[in-house]
Amino acid sequence: YYIPEPSNEPVLSYAPGTDEREALQQAVKEARKHEADIPMYIGSEEVRTGNKIKMSPPYDHQHTLGYFHEGDASHVQQAIDAALAAKQQWEDLSWEHRASIFLKAADLIAGPYRAKINAATMLAQSKNAFQAEIDAACELIDFLRFNAAFMQEIYMDQPESSPGVWNRMEYRPLEGFVFAITPFNFTAISGNLPAAPALMGNTVVWKPNYSQVYSAQVIMEVFKEAGLPDGVINLIYVDGPVAGDVIFKHPDFAGLHFTGSTKVFKHLWKTIGENIDLYKSYPRIVGETGGKDFVIAHKSANAQEVATGLVRGAFEFQGQKCSAASRAYIPSNLWEEVKELIGKDLKDISMGSPEDFSNFVNAVIDQNAFKKIAGYIDQAKQDADVEVLFGGNYDDSVGYFIEPTVLLAKDPHYTTMEEEIFGPVLTVYVYDEDKFEETLELVDSTSPYALTGAVFSKDRYAVELATRKLRNAAGNFYINDKPTGAVVGQQPFGGARGSGTNDKAGAGINLLRWVSARTIKETL
Ligand code: GLU
Repeated sequence: YYIPEPSNEPVLSYAPGTDEREALQQAVKEARKHEADIPMYIGSEEVRTGNKIKMSPPYDHQHTLGYFHEGDASHVQQAIDAALAAKQQWEDLSWEHRASIFLKAADLIAGPYRAKINAATMLAQSKNAFQAEIDAACELIDFLRFNAAFMQEIYMDQPESSPGVWNRMEYRPLEGFVFAITPFNFTAISGNLPAAPALMGNTVVWKPNYSQVYSAQVIMEVFKEAGLPDGVINLIYVDGPVAGDVIFKHPDFAGLHFTGSTKVFKHLWKTIGENIDLYKSYPRIVGETGGKDFVIAHKSANAQEVATGLVRGAFEFQGQKCSAASRAYIPSNLWEEVKELIGKDLKDISMGSPEDFSNFVNAVIDQNAFKKIAGYIDQAKQDADVEVLFGGNYDDSVGYFIEPTVLLAKDPHYTTMEEEIFGPVLTVYVYDEDKFEETLELVDSTSPYALTGAVFSKDRYAVELATRKLRNAAGNFYINDKPTGAVVGQQPFGGARGSGTNDKAGAGINLLRWVSARTIKETL
């Protein structure tokens, strides 16, 4: 290794009495004390438009965390101008220098900013301390460190030469600017989507989801402190269609790095297609979108492992992960036991504010999400071909709380077996224990998505069959484990079909999308 060899950032426990717990509680208290006033960052400017949008914790919607300044079309244009103005110097900087900035950012998050970024993620996105730690701290740090190592591998990958001829590949950044659209559910993804193209020498316009501006600003602060030059990443808060109207009509638009809904991604792809004659180059389109992630147990599986996998996979962060387990196929011989164990686990789970570290389940992100999820639950209460087994209650008087809910579907094509809900709702279908192979076909054909999935089995032939039959049903496939919690450098993350372009986050595959190589032949 020429740059520091990466290893995964250790996850802190936040157990009672630890220093990290004390520091995090202090950071939460501090953040609640004053109302933040968050500007956009365009070039060297902090832009305050006066059009202030209020931020509140989803679990305490009457409280004001602060405000951010929303921009309009003119700010999108300014951000593009700033990105293009910064481009030449940034791409001329050697890759070691670019890497050192992001490695420094990783160290800042691992050290002095850890409590602050975790607190921001807890307060604005309603994550518990553990979910914040594995996301805003560890995963973001890992993305930054591992990407630097992957970048080095890419640059070192050079063609053969022959006597008298020296061939080389120059991994140029794209010609133009990259647009990053980032989601509310992972602070790490939000930081990685602008950082990965920037690391490869591109300059970026970054538009975060409005529910994540609070932690996005901390990321920006870290990048600046780490020495990121002005204009390399420009952070704007502009309504999606307003931003899209300017970005996708610009001749220098060179790439889209997206995580969000399938519907929006398809719409953007079409828009880019319609404008294709305007662009200098074919834009790179990279997106991670929805999921309807499955868990299938074989009759040989261990019931406790299945139940734990389901509860954790479906209800961590209120099921608001693209990777969340949301449809389960359980064989008839195991069902009574699995059901009992799920019920037992759910009884021990407490729901409430993440500021109380003992709460495993917190609020869902906002009122729209709350209504959409509650709508599925209400419908299930009325429908004859489904039964509400556990949970089913919700209450938005203080925060957007929805109980972890388990539905039992008699019809394997019931709505909640097929549609992405993005909330704490798991639907189970019980299949005839001797129809494993047929059920694998059902799993494969039921949903348009293919992000994550899991098989639980003690029988090697069944594992082999599931792995083969479900080859295209998931980009991340787990054997005897829950389908969430991919670790950078260990389980590169992404799916195909309706779930995205499968350009694996936190892997060289992704970084290759942000370069456009030039082959050079020199006759010596
Ligand atoms: N990478 C995350 C996981 O493995 C999910 C990312 C997402 O929800 O977009 O759970």
